[in-house]
Amino acid sequence: MIGRRIYGFVRAASLVAAIGLVLACAPAAVRALRADDLLFLAAALAIAVALGVVRPPAAHFERSSRPTPESDRVGLLVPVLLAVLVTEGWFWAAALNVVAFVVRPNRRRRDTVRDRILAAPLRVPAWWAGGFIAAPLHAAVTGTPSLGGVFVFIGIATGYVLLADLVWVDSLQAFRQGRSLVRTWSRHLTDRGTMLTALAESAWAYVVVRVVLHDGGAFGAALLAPLVLFAVILVRFARLNARIHRLALSREAVDAMLRASDPQPQMRSLLESVDPRIVRESVEIAAFGRGGADRWSRVVRFGPPVPSELERLGGRVLLELQVTGDDAAVEEHEEGTVSAYAARDAQGRLRGALVVSRKAGANPLVAARDIARAAVELGPLLGEYGAIAATRSAAAVDTLTGLPNRRGVSRAFEEAMAHVRDGGKYAVLLLDIDHFKSINDLLGHQTGDRVLAQIGRIIAENIRGVDVAGRFGGEEFLVLLRDAARERALQVAERLRVAIETGGLAYADGKPVTVSVGVAYARAADGTSDVMERADRALYRAKNAGRNRVVESPLVAV
Ligand code: GH3
Ligand code: MG
Ligand code: MG
Repeated sequence: MIGRRIYGFVRAASLVAAIGLVLACAPAAVRALRADDLLFLAAALAIAVALGVVRPPAAHFERSSRPTPESDRVGLLVPVLLAVLVTEGWFWAAALNVVAFVVRPNRRRRDTVRDRILAAPLRVPAWWAGGFIAAPLHAAVTGTPSLGGVFVFIGIATGYVLLADLVWVDSLQAFRQGRSLVRTWSRHLTDRGTMLTALAESAWAYVVVRVVLHDGGAFGAALLAPLVLFAVILVRFARLNARIHRLALSREAVDAMLRASDPQPQMRSLLESVDPRIVRESVEIAAFGRGGADRWSRVVRFGPPVPSELERLGGRVLLELQVTGDDAAVEEHEEGTVSAYAARDAQGRLRGALVVSRKAGANPLVAARDIARAAVELGPLLGEYGAIAATRSAAAVDTLTGLPNRRGVSRAFEEAMAHVRDGGKYAVLLLDIDHFKSINDLLGHQTGDRVLAQIGRIIAENIRGVDVAGRFGGEEFLVLLRDAARERALQVAERLRVAIETGGLAYADGKPVTVSVGVAYARAADGTSDVMERADRALYRAKNAGRNRVVESPLVAV
């Protein structure tokens, strides 16, 4: 907060200083111009504008902290400005810098032309200070070319550029963003790429100045022109690079999913590569159509938690996205707004969405356009996510009953035990069909299968959504009852037993098919096998006591 205030103060002071300096120096600077200067300046201005519009990634320290959209520096401008500083004076260098800064294309909603016009004069004091090195630089270039002259020029110019960056630009950025200046410096000073670029840019400026002074402004301008071409190539290269980087992240996330480990870090980096601030908003990645069904599932969530009212809105906005086929949908409420941006695969199928929730009055950090772009980047990844999730759930489902198979129910069992360790409760029912072998033997395997499927259905119909039932073995079913105390567990077990007995299934002798049930209660210190063993022993006792009954484990926790 204090940092922002200091930044605002420096910005205002710079504006006042810039206006004062312009009023004081402009007449003399204009009067000093000769025809040749005018030619060179016009060309330099055109190139500065072109660089401002093309916006090549700024070399000075920006690469080291990844090029962000809010980057204030315009790349490749330094040779132009240094050449102008030496040949035409600081006033014109400052003017060109301001122009290049203001003409940057509008990337972000919050970065308006007004903001840029207010921030542009910040460059003026730096170039006014640069005026003090104009004379020594000029002296180093004039006369017969010498290695000493080259070294002096490059040394002074590079030193000035780095000093202006570290002392002026970095301090302002640190104040504006509330970051530690020391951390910024330590990162920047170890960035060898920036040092080398600064040297190269100074060397380029040396050549241009030399040509301007000896052969005239037209030749000097011709030497600056390749910077624009270079800028275009750099921009292309940077885009390609970013694309490759995102593809790599996407691949890594898919690999993580295949290994059944958490793909969250890769997904986070993927979002951050579009705009590092996205993960500071309340965002959620949702997948669509997992397992073939048209439904939404939550993949990961970043940023501050969302009030439940907005969470409900999130469900609505996703449905809207799905039904309308639009690329974005917004829902508003007095608590705030929720927007969803579609993520599609290469075939254009909806595979998921990026959902952003903002409380009423909250300041958006990232422009809608950038969030939409992040969603587009997620499309292929979510496509693969859906496929992986579908195969994984297919591998965990029993085809005969449609219930989770041993593998699926074991996974649910592990999750249940984690819930118990967190202080929750679980009761476990183990159901075994009585005399099932006789059905197979006397009525045939097919009838046996039908009985299995039918009993699976009866069990599924008699438990709640938070409970899990699975086919654990041949004719054994496991039921996990979440947060069930003893009475409820016994009640559900009895209900299941009766429902099966009265379900219309019959043995060869016409008597109703029954099950025996063992009940056990999970304790925090248990592993799944401990609970299983107790349920199995209870089941064994139910069988021994005459079948078609519920028996609970004597070890009753909670
Ligand atoms: P009890 O009351 O003691 O449990 O008697 P039971 O006959 O049910 O006991 P047992 O465990 O000996 O028999 C289980 C039978 O279940 C044996 C096996 O052939 C049959 N079975 C296992 N899986 C399937 C299946 O997928 N389909 C069919 N039709 N039968 C199966
Ligand atoms: Mg059995
Ligand atoms: Mg049996």
